[in-house]
Amino acid sequence: GEVDAQTGMVVNLYDLKRILKEVLEEFDHKHLNLDTPYFRQVIPTTENIARVLWGILARQPSIGRLEKVRLFEDEDLSADITAEGQRTSLTRRYHFSAAHRLYSERLSEADHQRLFGKCGHPTGHGHNYVLAVTVEGAIDPDTGMVTDIPALDRVVRERVVQRFDHRNLNQDPDLAHSVPTGETLARLIWDLLVKAIPTGRLERVGLGETRETSYEYTG
Ligand SMILES: [Zn+2]
Repeated sequence: GEVDAQTGMVVNLYDLKRILKEVLEEFDHKHLNLDTPYFRQVIPTTENIARVLWGILARQPSIGRLEKVRLFEDEDLSADITAEGQRTSLTRRYHFSAAHRLYSERLSEADHQRLFGKCGHPTGHGHNYVLAVTVEGAIDPDTGMVTDIPALDRVVRERVVQRFDHRNLNQDPDLAHSVPTGETLARLIWDLLVKAIPTGRLERVGLGETRETSYEYTG
């Protein structure tokens, strides 16, 4: 929403905290299937829990217009509800380590130094990459999921993690003639995954290279 001219805030944080505490009380330390009324017919997957929370929070006028509900099941799995509650997506995180050197035959020595600095050093260097794969789609009523997570894990492991983990990116056949930056790698990962997503649609590839630097590709 808009920043309120009097308070300088989009939403009163005190109200928001109080409402969230009240809402979450119903779920905290409960058996979701047995102790809440929401999951008698619906499987309490992360996607469905996020959707229930959206429904409850969207009815709270004092917190303004709800834009997104993001629910983490653990640090590598989260579900987002957006677009007025109409859109569900699931994000799964994966990890791999790889080496690269930012280098191009088409650039002069001076340009290398200016553009890439120490990232262009001939010895190369490594990163612990964090890959976030977001799949958007309808929640399957039989599984409660946007996508088949074990199948997604298999696809990402076979097509991306095994291919790049503990490798030199400059020697990858699809990167040999480009500069293996985060942008280039994120786009290549998109291309490797986009037609292989088990169910749902690939919405975003996020690639964290360092704590400060990350890249996104959305097709
Ligand atoms: Zn680097």
